[in-house]
Amino acid sequence: MRIGSHVDAEDPIAGAKARGADVAQIFLGAPQAWKDPEVLYPGGAQALREAAAAADLPLVVHAPYRINVASTNNRIRIPSRTLLQKQVDAAAEIGAIGIVVHGGHVGADDDLEVGFDNWRKCLEKLERPTTVLIENTAGGDGAMARGVDRIAALWEAVRAAGAEDVGFCLDTCHAWASGEPLAGLVGRITAVTGRVDLVHVNDSRDEFGSSADRHANLGQGHIPEEDLLAVLRDANVPAVVETPGAQTEQGIDIAWLHERLG
Ligand SMILES: [Zn+2]
Repeated sequence: MRIGSHVDAEDPIAGAKARGADVAQIFLGAPQAWKDPEVLYPGGAQALREAAAAADLPLVVHAPYRINVASTNNRIRIPSRTLLQKQVDAAAEIGAIGIVVHGGHVGADDDLEVGFDNWRKCLEKLERPTTVLIENTAGGDGAMARGVDRIAALWEAVRAAGAEDVGFCLDTCHAWASGEPLAGLVGRITAVTGRVDLVHVNDSRDEFGSSADRHANLGQGHIPEEDLLAVLRDANVPAVVETPGAQTEQGIDIAWLHERLG
């Protein structure tokens, strides 16, 4: 099983090597901004694509957090669609195996159905030269991908858009915080999405069902070790740690997983 890490975009190859990671997840540009994607690797997209292939290092892109294609607010939804398309295109240019985007949310007083339908409309227009992976999120009343019931409704929209190529990224911290038991979760999600493509393996600084999105290093948070490992074994897909610290701490997390998964 490939276990990787979120790393700095300037040199994902070196960042992965320093952690013992064999998948590298990066941002293409500032994660909190509305700016166009940028490839910080010297030599640009083509050079990064070639270097990653030569290093046998699959790349994953994480889309900026601001993207919320579910939003009922035009001034968020429309730029979100535009930026997501640019990010998907840029991810394809670097040869990424996929791009992770959060499920997004509507306002607390909004109808969830409007949000799911906004996903349908987005996916009907979105060109997908690489795999779009929708990630579950931790909290929020109006969240689109919080808990299996919402994910099932979201996937009805995915199917209605004819977007069966869209995949799923399961974040263990987010699932735990959302109050979704991890035991058997891969099976419950696969039953509604047909797939889990990537795992974000993070421990949680908070209690089960807290709705808080605060990642912890593996074995240092509240998620039972066996629950974390069971998700990885059940999913049997590439996994990425998005844990606190840099190469030392994340390197320890990756080694922690390899020791236990064999
Ligand atoms: Zn994540």
